[in-house]
Amino acid sequence: MSLAFDDYGRPYIILRDQGQKKRMKGLEAYKSNILAAKAIANTLQSSLGPKGMDKMLVSPDGDVSVTNDGATIVEKMEIQHPTAKLLVELSQSQDAEIGDGTTGVVVLAGKLLEQALTLLDKGIHPLKISDGFDRACDVAIKHLEQIAEEIDIQANDHEALIQAACTALGSKVVSKRKRELGKIAVTAVLDVADLTRKDVNLDLIKIQTKTGGSVEDTRLISGILIDKDMSHPQMQKEVTDAKICLLTCPFEPPKPKTKHNINISNAEDYNKLYQQEQQYFIDMVKLVKNSGANIALCQWGFDDEANHLLLQNDLPAVRWVSGTDVELIAMATGARIIPRFQEITPEKLGKAGSIKEVQFGTSNERMLVIENCQCTKAVTILIRGGSQMIVDEAKRSIHDAICVIRNLIKDNRIVYGGGSAELACALQVLQYADEVSSVEQYAVRSFADALEGIPSCLADNCGLNPITSVAQAKSRQLSEKNPRIGIDCMDLGTTDMKEQRIYETLSSKKQQIQLATQVVKMILKIDDVIAPDDY
Ligand code: ADP
Ligand code: MG
Repeated sequence: MSLAFDDYGRPYIILRDQGQKKRMKGLEAYKSNILAAKAIANTLQSSLGPKGMDKMLVSPDGDVSVTNDGATIVEKMEIQHPTAKLLVELSQSQDAEIGDGTTGVVVLAGKLLEQALTLLDKGIHPLKISDGFDRACDVAIKHLEQIAEEIDIQANDHEALIQAACTALGSKVVSKRKRELGKIAVTAVLDVADLTRKDVNLDLIKIQTKTGGSVEDTRLISGILIDKDMSHPQMQKEVTDAKICLLTCPFEPPKPKTKHNINISNAEDYNKLYQQEQQYFIDMVKLVKNSGANIALCQWGFDDEANHLLLQNDLPAVRWVSGTDVELIAMATGARIIPRFQEITPEKLGKAGSIKEVQFGTSNERMLVIENCQCTKAVTILIRGGSQMIVDEAKRSIHDAICVIRNLIKDNRIVYGGGSAELACALQVLQYADEVSSVEQYAVRSFADALEGIPSCLADNCGLNPITSVAQAKSRQLSEKNPRIGIDCMDLGTTDMKEQRIYETLSSKKQQIQLATQVVKMILKIDDVIAPDDY
């Protein structure tokens, strides 16, 4: 796009390649954008809630994954449309900030867009709609803070945290084991949490997946688990009081950087070269041993020659340690990552109580556990399951639960789920609508309708009649002045979500409503789409 001036000095805009571009303006642009974004929200709608459906996604190269996690679904959908992509980002920002609630946020945005479409058809200006939504959003957020309750994190052996984790896990493939997995997640987070600073470094919780066994075999290991074994089967299986040399350079003679030839014409030359290579290995092992290290962890591999020498010199070693593991080990044991053998010094070694090979289940695959690390405590959740698909989904679900617990440690206020919080906000927003005397009133009222869309969607997904269940819940909320009445998805005989103990974090609900409103406002501001013709 460039600006030019005509003969009279009046400015005009030149669009390059105008002929090859498609252009939509005004109402047409609003509507097409809204419809595209709504299509994404509609896909996710059936995944919301404890009885939500899973999606099966097949990647271009045939990998199949089954998931209920909103952020994962939209990420794998390979969306082309530019405004639909905004919803993908919406889900991902909820995932990055909060971790849970990634489906809910997109569904809510979809409901808001639906309302915006009707308002546009009524002839209300998009900016008025935007303003109305904005004001309604503020009212909803204020009300959320009013109905939020503080929970005692420590009480009853962290029962409240476990319940919150169970709510997050309840909608997932692994929901049958939610109590066990919830407990594991809570213990893991509390192990690494700094309760005085109310902070949790999630990097210290490693989630390791391993197919085999079943989901019940998932367990928490105090220490860092790496899916590797000692490089030589005859090396010692356990190193106590470990002094770790963490290497990111290969155990091998230096390779010449450019192409070259070595002419070996007689046995003597060959022997000389062989001796040189041997000497090189010996020097490397010496450098490691002299620093006082009693185990070497190497990001690279080493060949049989080096392996044998390490065994002979009584230096246990592990090869092919992954980059993320190297970083975690460095953080937990205080080891410095050493890129060259010449730089090994005693101060750069990491310390840990022990490193040992362990065996899980009946398979004879072994892994290494690094325990009692010097600097910080790190833990590993070892996820087991029948297939790669199951362990991957379990990993995503446990990630959600861990995030929920972390959020509660940062801010211990909760609201109740099952659509009750949304419904309570909707009622409050409706009340506020009557106070608005301008056109925005319609938008404010529509915002309330969109919020009601969440409980109605939950009811729909578990086979209840959405209209009657929402109407019932609404009238009970009003008559009993109880903002905790929601949808009884699991058919437990009560709609009071406090009795059902469906806990959701205030931070997550707040973020959901704010982010959804924000993205809808953004879409409503686009009145001109200029794109290549093949869009
Ligand atoms: P998200 O990715 O948004 O977290 P979920 O599929 O986890 O999506 O569904 C979350 C929604 O389901 C929330 O609105 C929550 O209140 C509701 N929910 C979770 N468990 C229950 C339950 N047992 N009964 C009723 N509603 C529930
Ligand atoms: Mg969830």
